[in-house]
Amino acid sequence: MCAIGRRTGEILTQAEIPTSSPEETLGKVIEFFKKNGPVVAIGVGAFGPLDLDPSSDTYGHITKTPKAGWSNFDIRGRLAEALQRPVEIETDVGCAGMGEYFYGTAKGINDLLYMTIGTGIGGAHLRNGQVQHGLGYPEMGHLFIPHDKERDPFPGVCPFHGDCFEGLASGPAIEKRAGDKSHQVIDPVRWDLEADYIALALCNLILTMSPKIVVLGGGVTQHGGLVPLVRSRIEELIKDYVPLPMITEASENNAIKGAIRLAAHS
Ligand code: ZN
Repeated sequence: MCAIGRRTGEILTQAEIPTSSPEETLGKVIEFFKKNGPVVAIGVGAFGPLDLDPSSDTYGHITKTPKAGWSNFDIRGRLAEALQRPVEIETDVGCAGMGEYFYGTAKGINDLLYMTIGTGIGGAHLRNGQVQHGLGYPEMGHLFIPHDKERDPFPGVCPFHGDCFEGLASGPAIEKRAGDKSHQVIDPVRWDLEADYIALALCNLILTMSPKIVVLGGGVTQHGGLVPLVRSRIEELIKDYVPLPMITEASENNAIKGAIRLAAHS
């Protein structure tokens, strides 16, 4: 997704460019900004894995990825060189969290956990609008959660861990388990299982980070009734031990708005 907007969160123009090879994709992205700009600065919310350490020689590169041609691609450098503008980069999920903090459901709430559950699962923790990084950045999709193999013998789809959170609860996991597209899966037993996995992961994160709000985005969470089900399962699991954060659905265009905000930081 390419967009031009203002610091206020207003989106002026946007376009969708399919992801193919890095050169072809970035070529079209650069063309979009040359045609619709000029812009003051650029914010990128990218899929990972990414090098986000500003002191690193490969800062702003996609690192090792199975996506053909993208390993070690300098996405930040390529844009900066072609457009001669400052370029800030963050994970896609970090940008979505920024969009929620600056313009969305979590506006101004200074401790926020954003989680997306779709083709993959990812999360970002924001304090005062700052996405928290460490040695790398958190990979909340790969949490290890209890897996009752009698109830759910499915081995999971994560190529690294099998039955981690993403392996059990991402869109591809739901589809493979059911042999059906996730939005066509209607059996409530399957959605109970899905809500349980999401609730287990969120309980661990809530108990670790104590966020004031949890925002849930991504295609899977759009299934009607899933978010309230997750909320009630979390209540059952935590048993009043700690006060629970608000748990809400994501707002529209959060990642685009977050990326625009990221550009405004530069
Ligand atoms: Zn995993």
